[in-house]
Amino acid sequence: MDSKVVGILGGGQLGRMMVEAASRLNIKTVILENGADSPAKQINSSAEHIDGSFNDEAAIRKLAEKCDVLTVEIEHVDVEALKKVQEQTSVKIYPSPETIALIKDKYLQKEHLIRNQIAVAESTAVESTAQALQSVGQKYGYPYMLKSRTMAYDGRGNFVVEDVSKIPEALEALKDRPLYAEKWAPFTKELAVMVVRGLGGDVHAYPTVETIHKNNICHTVFAPARVNDTIQKRAQLLAEKAVSAFPGAGIFGVEMFLLPNDELLINEIAPRPHNSGHYTIDACVTSQFEAHIRAVCSLPLPKNFTSLSTPSTHAIMLNVLGSPDPEEWLQKCKRALETPHASVYLYGKSNRPGRKLGHINIVSQSMDDCIRRLEYIDGKSGTLKE
Ligand code: ATP
Ligand code: MG
Ligand code: MG
Repeated sequence: MDSKVVGILGGGQLGRMMVEAASRLNIKTVILENGADSPAKQINSSAEHIDGSFNDEAAIRKLAEKCDVLTVEIEHVDVEALKKVQEQTSVKIYPSPETIALIKDKYLQKEHLIRNQIAVAESTAVESTAQALQSVGQKYGYPYMLKSRTMAYDGRGNFVVEDVSKIPEALEALKDRPLYAEKWAPFTKELAVMVVRGLGGDVHAYPTVETIHKNNICHTVFAPARVNDTIQKRAQLLAEKAVSAFPGAGIFGVEMFLLPNDELLINEIAPRPHNSGHYTIDACVTSQFEAHIRAVCSLPLPKNFTSLSTPSTHAIMLNVLGSPDPEEWLQKCKRALETPHASVYLYGKSNRPGRKLGHINIVSQSMDDCIRRLEYIDGKSGTLKE
């Protein structure tokens, strides 16, 4: 198992948790990221790491020279450089550069999903002019969502166009960015499914979970989602079908909207471990990070490895977000440490309001019990008897 070296483009928390999973399998990882102190480099002492950008061809080539497999913890990387490495060397790249290119531009991603008969929120490419945004409003009605096609994360790149008067503000907020517009999805819940794709194109869904976003940032995840079995299964099948449309191997996060008529639409796909899959570390047979490492290193993906640990396992994942009061997030972590069945994961990042500094997993035999523990950690209930 220790014969392959995996290079990771990006050294944030997702890279850090990939490193942890790889280390347990004796798989060596090398990180490409600016600076020596990124979350993934902090826990992986090695002289091999590369100080540079995942958008710099020379740095990517340097990483490839040290590795057998390259993977990513972020999609905003130089795909052309990856394509050249794939053509000119024997280094394997998963997910494939073609997949990363299709996904990193959210509008190309939508077009690709539509070509593969997969339900997505209706959208249209749009120019950065008031006239263009007005005609979108006439077509979709208000509100609609204006989105940057590229470099989007945590809602940075989204603008809700509430009515025609908000168009100048929308243009200013997303100026100099390539845009598309999306019809408003009046969802009753947001669901997500992690899917692992093996080298043979086989796809394996994790349970369907429910994600709660606040200010466009994922805040809490309920696993499994509080929906009926039919929706649970339909979401898994939709996610597997979507991931089947993207070549290469590795883990994918599939975000969806559940509409009032129970229709499911895909919001977007991430070609990497995903915040909505952090619960898998404590609640599933194999974590999303280990599943990814296994998939990109051609290691076995046995039956039921994506299942919850037991049929009655329930989990809640709570993001630890930075706060203006530097003590607030620490207090939350302290309360989690006092809580039976809760685990704290910190990423080695400094406090900044809204920044993802860590997460807390709560795992128990019922959702009610998980919620009780969450209320204590959140400071909403003062006592926790057991
Ligand atoms: P991520 O951090 O997940 O990559 P992102 O910046 O790519 O985020 P999206 O996932 O496109 O952004 O949108 C963020 C959130 O905004 C969604 O989870 C959802 O709550 C809301 N949203 C996005 N698109 C729509 C839509 N068409 N209608 C209603 N709400 C939407
Ligand atoms: Mg996104
Ligand atoms: Mg999203």
